[in-house]
Amino acid sequence: MKDKLNAILEKAREQVAQSADLNALNDIRVQILGKKGELTEVLKSMKDVAAEDRPKIGQMVNDTRAEIEGILEAAKSKMEAAVRDAKLKSEVIDVTLPADRNRIGHRHPNQIALEELERIFIGMGYEVVEGPEVEKDYYNFEALNIPADHPAKDEQDTFYVNGDILLRTQTSGAQVHEMEKGRLPIRMISPGRVFRADEVDATHSPSFHQVEGLVIDKGITFADLKGTLEHAAKELFGADTRVKFRPHHFPFTEPSAEMDVSCFKCGGKGCRFCKGEGWIEILGCGMVHPHVLEMSKIDPREYTGFAFGFGLERIALLKYEIDDMRLLYENDDRFLRQF
Ligand SMILES: [Zn+2]
Repeated sequence: MKDKLNAILEKAREQVAQSADLNALNDIRVQILGKKGELTEVLKSMKDVAAEDRPKIGQMVNDTRAEIEGILEAAKSKMEAAVRDAKLKSEVIDVTLPADRNRIGHRHPNQIALEELERIFIGMGYEVVEGPEVEKDYYNFEALNIPADHPAKDEQDTFYVNGDILLRTQTSGAQVHEMEKGRLPIRMISPGRVFRADEVDATHSPSFHQVEGLVIDKGITFADLKGTLEHAAKELFGADTRVKFRPHHFPFTEPSAEMDVSCFKCGGKGCRFCKGEGWIEILGCGMVHPHVLEMSKIDPREYTGFAFGFGLERIALLKYEIDDMRLLYENDDRFLRQF
C-alpha cells in the first residue's frame, strides 16, 4: 500500500513539474484527487484492508493527499505570479506619452448669444429678471392688452394646461410681474424659454427662447428706444451696423415697429445671406401701450416706456450662420464644438 501511495505521489510531482498552465494543474487535481481519482480509488479499496490496519493506512492516504495538495498549491501560486508579472510587463504605462484629453462639454450657441445680450444690456444698467414658464392666462395675454378673442390666444397656437393656466408663449409675463411690484423706474430684460404649438421645421420649434426688454421711467420716448436698440445692434453685429425701423402692430405697444439691421455679411449691398435685401429682421419693439401700464397700476400720464423682444435662436442662427434651427436642439457635441 505504501508503495502504491508513493507511486501516486511521485507521478503527481512529475506531472506538476511538466504542466504548463493552470488548466493542466486542475486536470492533475481531478485525475488524482477527484471523485474518480487515483487516490480516491485507494481510499475506496480500504474495505479490503484488515480492520486493525485501517487507521494507519487511512493516515498514510491522508498524508499523501495533503502532500499532493501542497504541491499543486505551490505550483499554482508560482504560475499565478508568473502570469501577473507577464501582465505587468505587457501593460506597462509610458508616462511620457501625451494623455487622453478629457473632453468637457461646450457652451451652447444659444447660451453664448444670451450671455452676449446680457452683457450688452447689463452694461446699460439693465437687470436680468426671469419669470415662470407655466403662467396664468392673465399674465401671458390679458395684462399685455391681448383680449380673449385675439388670434394669438387660439388653442392651436398655445399649450393650455387648463382654461386659466398655460405654457407661456412669450416672456412678457415676467415684465408684468415686475411692473406690478410698483418699483419704478424699470430697466430689465427677461430671457427664457417659451412654448408655441408649432410644428418642427428649419425655422420653427414648439419650444424656443426669447429675450424681452422693458424700460419704464419718466420722460422715456421713442428716441430712447431707437438709441438703445441701435447701440445693442452695433455691439452684437459690429460697429458698422445700421438699423432701420418699420411700422408694425403689436397689441402691447403703440406705436410698434420691427427693427432690421444692415446685413453684416455684405454690409447692406445684398447677398445670399440677406436674400438680396441688404437688411435682416431682428426684433419687434414699441412704446408700451398706456393701457398695459394702467393695468399694472402705473400712471401713463406720469410714466412712459418702451419694450422689445429678441428671438434668442434667431440671434444665434444669424451670428453663427447656422441654417437649420433644429441643429440647436440636437445637442450633437460635434456640432456644438464649432462655436
Ligand atoms: Zn447681405
